[in-house]
Amino acid sequence: MVFATGNSGKLREASEILGKGFELVTPAQMGIKEDIPETGTTLRANSQLKADYIWNHCHTDCFADDTGLEVDALGGAPGVHTARYAGEDKNFDKNMDKLLDELSRKEMEASLMKSMGITPKTNLRGARFKSVVTLIVGGQRYYFNGVLEGRIARSKAGKGGFGYDPVFISDDFPGMSLAEISEEQKNSISHRGKALRAMAEFLADRNK
Ligand code: IMP
Repeated sequence: MVFATGNSGKLREASEILGKGFELVTPAQMGIKEDIPETGTTLRANSQLKADYIWNHCHTDCFADDTGLEVDALGGAPGVHTARYAGEDKNFDKNMDKLLDELSRKEMEASLMKSMGITPKTNLRGARFKSVVTLIVGGQRYYFNGVLEGRIARSKAGKGGFGYDPVFISDDFPGMSLAEISEEQKNSISHRGKALRAMAEFLADRNK
C-alpha cells in the first residue's frame, strides 16, 4: 500500500506497527515528487486530502495520517498547524522552541494571576497527540483515530523519535519524553500506533 508521507519517522513507525504483512510504498517511489497540499482546517480533512491525492494520481490502495498536538494552555493549539507552528520550513527544533517559550510565558502569567488570588482553570502543560488515518481501499474511504494523552516537558530530552517527541511526556511513561523511550514502547502507546492497529484489524476482518 502507498503511505502518503514524506516523513521518514512516520514511515519507520508505520512499518514497525503494521509489521511484515504490509509492504509500504512512499509517494516518491510512485513518482510523486511534490509536497501533497494540506489546506484543510481539520486533521481529518488533511488526512483525507493526502489519501485522495494518492488515489487520484495512482488509483492504488493507500492511507495517510495527519497528526496534531493539542496543548490545553494554548486552547488546543497548535492543532492542525502543528507541522508549521514556527514557520513554513516545518523545522522540529524551532517548533519545539516556540512551544516551550509560549508555555513559559503562560506559566509566568499564571503565577502573576495566582499572586492576585486567581487560580488558572487549565492544567497548563496538559497536552495530547491526535492522529486521523484515512484509508482508501477499492476507492472507498475509511477513517481511524488515535489519541495519546500526556504533558509538555520544561525542556527537550532524548534523541529518539521525531517531531515534538523530545518535549512530550506521555501518561504511560511518566518522567521520560517520547524521545527517551524505545521505539517499541512509543509504538505500543502512541496515537499513530492506535490508529494504525485499528486500520490493520479492519483490513484483516475485511479479508476473512
Ligand atoms: P503531519 O501529520 O505530517 O502534518 O505532522 C504534524 C506535525 O506533528 C509535524 O510537525 C510532525 O513532526 C508532528 N508529529 C506527528 N507525529 C508525531 C509524533 O509521533 N511525535 C512527535 N511529533 C509528531
